[in-house]
Amino acid sequence: MPSAYQGHGPTDDVAVIGAGMVGLSTAWFLQEIDAGVTVYERDHVGAGASWGNAGWLTPALTAPLPEPSVLRYGLRAVLSPRAPVYPPPRADSDLARFLAGYVRRCAGRQWRRGMATYVPVNARALDAFDALAAGNVTARTQPTGAFLACFGRERDARRLVAELGQLAVAGQQLDYVPISGRRARAMERALTDRVAAAVEIRGQRFRHPPEFVRSLAEAVRSRGCRSDRPPPEGARALRCRWARRRAQWRRPSPRWRVRHPAIA
Ligand SMILES: Cc1cc2nc3c(=O)[nH]c(=O)nc-3n(C[C@H](O)[C@H](O)[C@H](O)COP(=O)(O)OP(=O)(O)OC[C@H]3O[C@@H](n4cnc5c(N)ncnc54)[C@H](O)[C@@H]3O)c2cc1C
Repeated sequence: MPSAYQGHGPTDDVAVIGAGMVGLSTAWFLQEIDAGVTVYERDHVGAGASWGNAGWLTPALTAPLPEPSVLRYGLRAVLSPRAPVYPPPRADSDLARFLAGYVRRCAGRQWRRGMATYVPVNARALDAFDALAAGNVTARTQPTGAFLACFGRERDARRLVAELGQLAVAGQQLDYVPISGRRARAMERALTDRVAAAVEIRGQRFRHPPEFVRSLAEAVRSRGCRSDRPPPEGARALRCRWARRRAQWRRPSPRWRVRHPAIA
């Protein structure tokens, strides 16, 4: 596993594992406080989901995925081969354990506890992108104007409005308004008359994912990369796994001196 970047400072305080959006921005903000950071990537920068995602920056919609209504309609959708996310049925104990744990967490109390953590983070999310832009990250985020969630049936739009209401009660910063299909079509000409209702969500942004990851990688590299330095002993053999409800990692060699690993 090659070292993507070497941090500055006499020792590497933090090893960030994974050069996706999360790992690279973790590294960038650690560099802001002068931590010595090394990013370890087993493949190449942006090899994971960050490179090809849809580019939405929508903290208003960011909430724990497990929630009570998922049990009503979400699992039915997941079990349909026509659903966007469809795990093919197979005897897989890991998948069974994951699904059982997911169902257990679809409780109102768990969701509210999750939201208590999300709300203050979501409130600062877009500011974090402004901090990157005010630093040395050249890629920019764009305001969406109106972000439209469109539905073929009015009752599905009402369901989203009810969910957004729950988010607002939990303290999420939200600016949204239900609109008719006709109004949505007037706002977005690509929509057909199959859109019966929509919800307009304001104040969100988007970004070009590959451009952003590339630019963030360059920014992290330019603030301390010494690419002529070989990777620390044994770094290529770093192993991470998920066990006992937390990420575990094994030091690849006693000579690998990193005080804090951050698995991204
Ligand atoms: C189709 C799709 C659309 C999405 N759309 C959006 C969206 O619009 N808005 C949004 O906010 N989110 C979206 N997401 C989610 C978002 O893409 C992810 O949450 C985000 O990219 C996760 O970033 P990451 O850095 O944690 O992971 P990744 O980008 O997956 O990066 C992980 C990196 O770690 C490396 N790695 C893995 N294991 C090791 C190891 N043992 N040692 C070293 N390196 C390792 C991988 O090679 C990879 O480069 C979408 C996801 C998908 C799949």
